Amino acid sequence: MSLIATMIKTKKANDFSRQKIEKIQNERLKKLVSYTRKNSKFYAEKFKDICDDFKLTDLPVTTKPEMMRSFDSVLTDPAITMKRIDEFTSDLDNIGRMIDDKYLIFRTSGSTGNPAIVLYDKQNIEVSSAVAAFRTFARNEDYKSFMKHGKKTAGVFADYGFYLACGMSRYLQFKTPNKKSKITIDVNGPEKEIIERLNEFKPAMLSGYPSNLALLADFDELNIHPDIVITGGELLTDKIREKLTKKFGCYVQTHYSCTEGGEIACECKEGHLHINEDWIIVEPVDNDYNPVNYGELSDKVLITNLSNYIQPFIRYELTDRIIVHNEKCSCNKNTMWIEIEGRTDDIFEFENGVKIAPMSLYKILEEIKSIKRFQMVQTSPKSLELRLIADDKASSFLKAKKNIESFFDSKDIKDVFIYLSDDDPKANEISGKFKHFYRDFT
Ligand SMILES: [Zn+2]
Repeated sequence: MSLIATMIKTKKANDFSRQKIEKIQNERLKKLVSYTRKNSKFYAEKFKDICDDFKLTDLPVTTKPEMMRSFDSVLTDPAITMKRIDEFTSDLDNIGRMIDDKYLIFRTSGSTGNPAIVLYDKQNIEVSSAVAAFRTFARNEDYKSFMKHGKKTAGVFADYGFYLACGMSRYLQFKTPNKKSKITIDVNGPEKEIIERLNEFKPAMLSGYPSNLALLADFDELNIHPDIVITGGELLTDKIREKLTKKFGCYVQTHYSCTEGGEIACECKEGHLHINEDWIIVEPVDNDYNPVNYGELSDKVLITNLSNYIQPFIRYELTDRIIVHNEKCSCNKNTMWIEIEGRTDDIFEFENGVKIAPMSLYKILEEIKSIKRFQMVQTSPKSLELRLIADDKASSFLKAKKNIESFFDSKDIKDVFIYLSDDDPKANEISGKFKHFYRDFT
């Protein structure tokens, strides 16, 4: 397919009925699986007992460690090997360039274990562009003012390494070197510098990680008036959405994407994340990969990327916890929509085996008005370190400690030592991503 054909197909699908969406999804799945069985040794073996008339749930699940272990045999082009990728990616000048003029190479940040290597073929890149073009904006009026103001886009992301945001923006720069409408600013640079560059560039669209944009919003020196703020990479909480709306005076929205699946879901004007079901299949499952009902929180997610033929992701496991809604949204779109739980955060497990989802702790800490920013690190099964930026740190901490302890009591979690850290909350030094909750012991 050409870019234009992909664009047309994607745009048309915006108006498809439920039936038609399911039909096209199924056709694309059949095509992908048949290609994959012929061209990927890994999947040929994995799917050897699957008949041609299979259902999606007949196909075995693939995990990241499994895929990385058998990397060369997963790929459908024998010319590409991990050895060649290692060589190619050892030269940082290759960020955003295609290997063999065919595939882009990305690396995931690996915040939950080892990083994955992900190849994008041209079709997968085209689909990302088409989805971005036709589904990014929740509201039409924001799209119009963005166009009117020259589509000037500033992204504050990790601007180094083979990460998706960095690699993709370099790739687009190489393609249209004279286009000055897009800049990427390194999220890990000094705040003063980030603010100066934003003030100077005056973006019509500002994008970045919600936690980081919230931090930048505290600076009075930051004086920009974008038409739209689009966050990604982490959960956009209501509190951050409110804060950014107030600071920038425009609509603030998010989307749900990952390196392996690309654009998984885009936000509508009701604030719902609609799955791009024509190009991706999303299955909410429990820990044993059994389907989880609509409206219920899953333990994991399986994705099937219908547009990537070089490195097929078929029923590939992601550790996000989501709720899939099949009830019709009042925005009138026919696709299903999802809610995501604090995606980059870790789940805490305590000595009695009780697991605590970050969302519950998030709500407790968010309710304490004097706390501006927080981060909680589980340093052992019995201890939690709380990092705070707050008006009165000591009393904010005591309040937080008391509320968390009474919540723990209700869950029968006993004798957890909660202590105030000397450190401020901080992002992961490698990926630039911020987690509100993470485990720091093995
Ligand atoms: Zn909707």
